[in-house]
Amino acid sequence: MAVPQNRVTRSRRDQRRSHDALTAGNPNECPSCGELKRPHHVCPSCGHYADREVVAQATTEVDDDAA
Ligand SMILES: [Zn+2]
Repeated sequence: MAVPQNRVTRSRRDQRRSHDALTAGNPNECPSCGELKRPHHVCPSCGHYADREVVAQATTEVDDDAA
């Protein structure tokens, strides 16, 4: 197994991690339901894309756990 030859100092480690931060997404408002959604993606809450419904949504929840 490879073993590091030299200790990485806190400074060098933290300098490496200075580029690791994640950036926030850029959500858009869905024009049909108003939920925030990713741009150029089908809305996950109403299934619309560009004012068309492209993914059928269930209208009522089916309770499978009911005996
Ligand atoms: Zn929507």
